[in-house]
Amino acid sequence: MARKTTAREGKQVEVRCAFCQGTGKDPFRLLSPLSACGVCGGNGKVLVKEPHVPCAFCGGTGIHPRSRLTCTACMGKGVIHVEEPTQTCPVCHGRGMDPAGDLALPCTTCGGAGVVAA
Ligand SMILES: [Zn+2]
Ligand SMILES: [Zn+2]
Ligand SMILES: [Zn+2]
Repeated sequence: MARKTTAREGKQVEVRCAFCQGTGKDPFRLLSPLSACGVCGGNGKVLVKEPHVPCAFCGGTGIHPRSRLTCTACMGKGVIHVEEPTQTCPVCHGRGMDPAGDLALPCTTCGGAGVVAA
């Protein structure tokens, strides 16, 4: 069986790594002052599929709002791929956090993006 390929497959674009702000270094030096950013692998850029929106869960910082670890919604990239057109997530109302949880978890409906495909 041949796998069906999507006609509108978004292309990958390079964006500045949000977690290290493009420096390529681990911002919290958890491992060592010289350790490379675990998100971008040290090159300061990450590949994200287009179109994408800023991660609402971490506010685009790539850093989990309740810890100093990578954001679990965007995996530290600061942006999340969402198919257009988008609309504000009806569950979290654009905040990206699970309203039923303890606010340390990304919204399960939008995955933390704050918007969903309309
Ligand atoms: Zn990085
Ligand atoms: Zn995030
Ligand atoms: Zn949501």
